[in-house]
Amino acid sequence: MSVSGKILSFEIEIPKVGVNPQEHPELCPLSLTKGKKMRQKTLTNHVFPKYWNLVKTEGYYMCDVVDCPVIYYNNQEKYYFGKDDVRAPVAHKMHIQEDGRPLCYCMGVLEQTILEELLIKQCCDSLKDIQEFTTANKGKDCAITNPAGRCCGSLIKETIEWAQKQRLTIIPPVLEEATACCEAIEAATKEIEE
Ligand SMILES: [Zn+2]
Repeated sequence: MSVSGKILSFEIEIPKVGVNPQEHPELCPLSLTKGKKMRQKTLTNHVFPKYWNLVKTEGYYMCDVVDCPVIYYNNQEKYYFGKDDVRAPVAHKMHIQEDGRPLCYCMGVLEQTILEELLIKQCCDSLKDIQEFTTANKGKDCAITNPAGRCCGSLIKETIEWAQKQRLTIIPPVLEEATACCEAIEAATKEIEE
């Protein structure tokens, strides 16, 4: 159960076999992965003001497993925040190409804008290009604006890598043509040799 009383699609009170989340405050009680330690100022900016009294305590972590519904957790206090308990969409809990996925919270840049540069205009190839053309990753307030309280660079790099793979899948027909051309030349050369 999350702080808002909404069911997080699992029963948080029942620890997974052999693991008691209260003995492992750093483990997400659902995905059982080690979370990122959170600062109070980040939480204050992301949870609704009605929960500010809950985030004044130490011991908060963020789970960044995409499909896990737990965003912030405090196993000692048994406070669990899901997506209905936070103010903005959390990029870390969204899949690439999901509608309205923010990537840079400081400058307000959506993933869609970055993918447009990478896949449609095909004018950007590196983090430096993306910074220049979209202003993403140029902010300095990630500790507060980013839901993980950390720089958005890793999310943007992940997006660039994904887009580069997409571009490779677009290129094969061109590669085929290029190979066909080589084969023709090879055949022609063979004829001459024969
Ligand atoms: Zn989790």
